[in-house]
Amino acid sequence: MINKLTDTSKLCVHTITTKPWEIEQSIDEFSAAGVGGITVWRNTLEGRDITATGDRIRSNGLDVVSLCRGGFFPADTAAQRQEAIDDNKRAIDEAAALGAPLIVLVCGANPNIPLAASRDQIQAGIEAVLPYAEQHNIRLAIEPLHPMYADTRSGVNTMTQANDMAEAIGHSLVGVAVDVFHLWWDPRLEQEIQRCGDNGHLFAFHICDWKFPLDDMLNDRGLMGEGCIDVPLIRSWVEKAGFNGYNEVEIFSNRHWAKDQKVFLQEIINAYKNKS
Ligand code: ZN
Repeated sequence: MINKLTDTSKLCVHTITTKPWEIEQSIDEFSAAGVGGITVWRNTLEGRDITATGDRIRSNGLDVVSLCRGGFFPADTAAQRQEAIDDNKRAIDEAAALGAPLIVLVCGANPNIPLAASRDQIQAGIEAVLPYAEQHNIRLAIEPLHPMYADTRSGVNTMTQANDMAEAIGHSLVGVAVDVFHLWWDPRLEQEIQRCGDNGHLFAFHICDWKFPLDDMLNDRGLMGEGCIDVPLIRSWVEKAGFNGYNEVEIFSNRHWAKDQKVFLQEIINAYKNKS
């Protein structure tokens, strides 16, 4: 059964979605529009007092849903892999200061390294930062990325692989972020979402749409309803698997960023209520 989204209390918007805005304006505009949560991209925190930014978010009635992003573990040398681990520890510090309970991991890939070896390095990287995540009680979400990004962005490309890795790590702080853009095509998606939920690993749900044709592999995502993803159906699977967190709108789009972002935010809310 597909429940209609009647209000915006479970709507979260990523700061990257309204990229032209500084984080302070995103906070003010999201709050005024009745958005319930915000996922903060690390670049928006540069030069800020992170603790004060978290307080500002909460005092505007928004939940900090997650921090984007950690990951990028595979690398040619041990020294570079250690640098990645150190950067992920910094992300944990930032999440703790902000009051974000979760970091989304874009796990990384390296075209010089076979994908299976990249996945081993990803798992080793997550396990290396896990004690630090435990100290700060920050959850880590493996986000499988569409296979078109398997060259440089992620060696984890399906829910099956993400579930396998989360199960292999076997820790309550390590789970999976489901993003419809990356996963809509997978014939195993419904059962793998259920498996993820049954494991207690379903940590986040990201929505947008797959526009056709894509003018850009990275920055041409569609607003819900603009493409071919059945977002309500996938949302119903996520909910059936026990997820009751935020529906996070994450859109990278040169086309939408070129607009007045206040107009875009209203379009997001309309698409959320009617096409999600
Ligand atoms: Zn995502």
